Amino acid sequence: MGAGDKIIRWYYAWFMRIVRFESHGQIHTGELTDEGSARVIEGDLFGAFGVSDRVLPIQRLLAPIIPVDILCIGMNYREHAVETGSTVPKHPMLFIKGSNTLNHPGAPIYIPRLSDQIDYECELAIVIGRSGKYIPREQAMDYVLGYTCANDVSSRDWQRNKDLGGGQYARGKSFDGFCPLGPCIVTRDEVPQPNDLRIRTLLNGQVMQDHTTADMIFDIPTLIQSLSSTMSLRAGSVILTGTPQGVGFARKPPVFMKAGDTVVVEIEKIGRLENPVVAEGR
Ligand code: MG
Repeated sequence: MGAGDKIIRWYYAWFMRIVRFESHGQIHTGELTDEGSARVIEGDLFGAFGVSDRVLPIQRLLAPIIPVDILCIGMNYREHAVETGSTVPKHPMLFIKGSNTLNHPGAPIYIPRLSDQIDYECELAIVIGRSGKYIPREQAMDYVLGYTCANDVSSRDWQRNKDLGGGQYARGKSFDGFCPLGPCIVTRDEVPQPNDLRIRTLLNGQVMQDHTTADMIFDIPTLIQSLSSTMSLRAGSVILTGTPQGVGFARKPPVFMKAGDTVVVEIEKIGRLENPVVAEGR
């Protein structure tokens, strides 16, 4: 911690909003105090940490975490399965986005050179706070640090067109900046019912997705149990829990994002993640 800073609270049970931000040329993690400032957090978010008495202005908000893994669940809402003509899966379907996809609140989502079928997906993201394997369902919530908003931005042609190597999700979902996260991590104690939240996408102010996390096929404890049954879930991982119906490619006619658009993911009790859409330089 900085010289002279005093820890005013240590956290073991958590009720707070955690942000990562730039202030005076440095990057900090902090507890959000109001729209414009944060109390600096010292220590390890995944061990013991404390909130100091140093309050700094937030000059630029960053993704609230640099995830060690970005784990994603496909087809986890019943009505989204219906709109895409898919069968309801019997087990959670896992795919992974590259670390190059991490993007920040307010930062551009680029329309890349090689695709013009760029779609939004609002998703509740779980931030894993403790590492584990073979985690029983009844203990799953002990492994959650908190929640944030995610946009699982997707190139539908590179995801779906076999001539482009599609048919798996990794490439179409891993263009640079295709995973905006934020604006903050809301700790788990503040959200006692994460499978009962309104979740929406607004494109240029128009509501495109508007549903509830209660419609998830596999709820959060089930996802943690299932993923940790075949892989170690590591502290600092983020799990994107799937998107509800209303995605652009399944609309008639299809809607894709284009330069000049503004896309917002909004989740009750968590916050609002807004990004401008910009053409990548040619
Ligand atoms: Mg998705």
